[in-house]
Amino acid sequence: MFRRFLSVVAVLALAVVGSVTIHVLAPEKAAADGCYTWDRTLRQGSTGSDVTQLQIRIAGWVSSGENLALDGDFGPATEAAVRRFQSGYGLPVTGVADSATYTKIYELQDNDCTPIHFAYSEFDNNCGANNFRGGKVSEATAKENIRRIMWQLEAMRRKLGDRPLNVTSGFRSVSCNEASGGSPTSLHMYGQAADLGLTNPPQCSMWNAGKTAGFEELLGPGYPGHNDHVHLGNKASRTWSAPNC
Ligand SMILES: [Zn+2]
Repeated sequence: MFRRFLSVVAVLALAVVGSVTIHVLAPEKAAADGCYTWDRTLRQGSTGSDVTQLQIRIAGWVSSGENLALDGDFGPATEAAVRRFQSGYGLPVTGVADSATYTKIYELQDNDCTPIHFAYSEFDNNCGANNFRGGKVSEATAKENIRRIMWQLEAMRRKLGDRPLNVTSGFRSVSCNEASGGSPTSLHMYGQAADLGLTNPPQCSMWNAGKTAGFEELLGPGYPGHNDHVHLGNKASRTWSAPNC
């Protein structure tokens, strides 16, 4: 009983210390972030769920053809992505997720953890259903997959000169995909694909930008059925095709 009491006291003490630490370290963070707050610097060798949270947000800052693993392990690929993110936003390039990096991420994220220039509502048309249901994965998984894509698109948008990107199709249920004439194996049914329409940067610029934004499925002009949009998807193997680019 006493022991249990002690552990309760310890937990309370930790909670108090934790909240005090956050305030002392970065009073500006509380207002900046209703989504997620990092409470330590991350660098090569760091592991944990906070590394995964970082990886989701920098997944669009990879080298050409690379797909960053969201594995909670801060290795060389994560460091390189952090460097590109920092460079892309004019921050000191340290390769370490430091306070300047977090401040930029807080600026870029909404309270629902999506990036500021994209919203779930742009991806959930689903043939008028306005939800993420009826696909090949659960609603929660589809949303999580779409969130990752949004961060990749946020990076693409930045690299293309802060030009708005127009999402014409995101998640599709199995029946919606069929009605839309989508491939029977379409990644859209998993929330792992998005289409960008033509009121965007040039089609081939978008197709090319997708290569360094972590997309392993990239279909554009000249590929059957893709002359009016660019299709970007996340999967393990690579399919890049845009014969007219
Ligand atoms: Zn598509």
